[in-house]
Amino acid sequence: MKIRSVYICDACGRFFDQASECEEHEAATHYSISASSYLKWKQLFISASHAGTHVGVRRNPETVKAFEDAIKELLDFEEKHCLSELGHPSNWY
Ligand SMILES: [Zn+2]
Repeated sequence: MKIRSVYICDACGRFFDQASECEEHEAATHYSISASSYLKWKQLFISASHAGTHVGVRRNPETVKAFEDAIKELLDFEEKHCLSELGHPSNWY
């Protein structure tokens, strides 16, 4: 028996053999950005999520500032690339 992994577009359900192919499809087809911008967006989203978790665990001026900075960077990126109203892929949570 063999096991085969597939990657599924979060927006339309199309199947891909490679994660990079799926991300390129999602970026170009559903968000109209390059694959590198898509990965940057995902990285900023995850960084902001982690910074929020840190504030929840240890709230102090340093963690609050890091969270605010991460959120600002994410929102600035989304505004620059017209992503603000599209929403993040659900598998980023
Ligand atoms: Zn799709």
